[in-house]
Amino acid sequence: MSYLNHSHKRLRTIDLTFSAALLLLTVMLVLSYFIRTELVQTNVLTQHTYDVIMAVDNLNNSMLQAESSRRGYILTGNVQQKSRCEIFAQSAQENLNEVKELTGDNQSQQRRLVKLQEMIQRKITIFKLSISHYDRMGFRGPEQAQLTEEGTSLMTAIRAGIDEIKSHEKTLLSERRARERTTLLILTVVVLSGIVIAIILLSLSYYIARHESRSHIIVAGDLQAANRDISDLSSMTQLLQSCSNFEEARGILTCYGEKFFPNASGGIYLLNPSRTLMTDAAAWGAADRRPFTPDQCWAMRLGQTHLSAAASDVECQHVEMGDAWAHLCIPLAAHHETLGTLHLGFPRTEDTDHLERIRLKAAAFAEQVALAVRSLQLREQLRELSIRDPLTALLNRRHMEESLLREISRATRTSQPLSVVMLDVDHFKSFNDTFGHEAGDHVLKEVGQLLQKNVRDSDIACRFGGEEFTLILPEADCDTALEICDRIRSAVKGLQLAMGRQHLGHVTISAGIAVFPADGDTIQQLLATADEALYEAKELGRDRVIASCTAPASQTEDQS
Ligand code: GH3
Ligand code: MG
Ligand code: MG
Repeated sequence: MSYLNHSHKRLRTIDLTFSAALLLLTVMLVLSYFIRTELVQTNVLTQHTYDVIMAVDNLNNSMLQAESSRRGYILTGNVQQKSRCEIFAQSAQENLNEVKELTGDNQSQQRRLVKLQEMIQRKITIFKLSISHYDRMGFRGPEQAQLTEEGTSLMTAIRAGIDEIKSHEKTLLSERRARERTTLLILTVVVLSGIVIAIILLSLSYYIARHESRSHIIVAGDLQAANRDISDLSSMTQLLQSCSNFEEARGILTCYGEKFFPNASGGIYLLNPSRTLMTDAAAWGAADRRPFTPDQCWAMRLGQTHLSAAASDVECQHVEMGDAWAHLCIPLAAHHETLGTLHLGFPRTEDTDHLERIRLKAAAFAEQVALAVRSLQLREQLRELSIRDPLTALLNRRHMEESLLREISRATRTSQPLSVVMLDVDHFKSFNDTFGHEAGDHVLKEVGQLLQKNVRDSDIACRFGGEEFTLILPEADCDTALEICDRIRSAVKGLQLAMGRQHLGHVTISAGIAVFPADGDTIQQLLATADEALYEAKELGRDRVIASCTAPASQTEDQS
């Protein structure tokens, strides 16, 4: 939620900075256009001033040329000089008109030009007078000198007028140049600062966008990992639910433990039924596989997650991983019952986010494992209940038949013998009658325990029903079975039976043995043969064992 809020805030900031940058660039563009237009206008005006100055210079030049041609004609009489004078006088007129036209919008220049025009007209008139006087009378010094003198002073005044016009135009030019420079400076400052600000804003939006997209990638990665974890957890739960015992579950737990915590060592340690020892139900990596007591684990003692992340944190006593390792223990609890602990060892880290991720992941893993372990325990208990006789804790008849079928096929496969024994407590009815049904139950329990103790792990002891028991002895031939049964018979006979303070005396048992394949190769045949042998033992006086290999002489022999 907070990530989404931050994300929205960042997106709003990107929108703002990016829009501001765009707006700024647009303003820069419009401003540049206006300033450029202004510059073009200033340029036109500057060019105009140059044109005026050039026209004024031309006027001055035409007047000087006309004057010099007039003098040349008066002195030499050269007709070419006369026409040159006329041409330059005409040019001067044209130049003056051009200047008037160019400065039409300038009142002060117009005033100066009116004065200048008068002087130029007079000067041209003097040119004409001087030439016509020469043409009529030839060179006559005093008259020409008078005209020249007046012309010279006029020329000085004309030149002063022209200079005044030029200087006014130069002043205008320098003003326009100054304005142009200022405009250029403003344009440069505005555009440069605008561009700098726009670059800063664009960089900011780029930085935020990049940061945002990086965050998106990280969040997407986290989500992907979380999805993977959820799907792994669900497939682990599914697999564990189809396990029939803890041995099968061990492989699954180890495999998923390694998968879930790839750079860590770890284990799942479960309490034994007497809740005194914790043994590993699964372990991976360098985890310690030795059993430990519950009070060696802080998670078990406190009933809560215990994390030892820093060197100064308290370590569980069952952990011996060295200073470079941190460890985390989480109690496995289901249905208000603590079943054991999940232990994880991983390299020490200062990264609190990483630690929190490990903790959350381990908690989710522990929760699923606890539920699966509890369900497995309940299923095992149920199975035990379904296959065991509640009074004697021996396997029941249904399970015996299943086991016998399995053992017959194994014996067939391996060509080994297999003995089936039917055992029955002698005169049990009268025992019940004498001591009561409860004492009878006590005896059945004692006999059951004795049977369990006196057979090998591979043998199967069952309560067939009532006070009858069955033994399945794989790989035991008739002689071996006889030996085992006789040992059991003696042991039962030697039992000191007592219930509380009440002495119950002794009981004896009789047994009949059938051997596969000699006495039959089906369950029914073998059980029937064993039952017949048992019947024979009863007939012969009880407290004895009968088999097909029993010598007829020994069958009658009292075995006490
Ligand atoms: P035999 O030597 O011929 O076997 O004589 P028996 O009295 O043992 O045989 P019988 O079949 O006549 O009697 C079996 C008795 O076992 C009957 C019943 O009261 C007793 N019994 C069967 N099941 C139980 C049980 O679960 N508890 C107790 N206390 N007695 C049982
Ligand atoms: Mg019986
Ligand atoms: Mg009996």
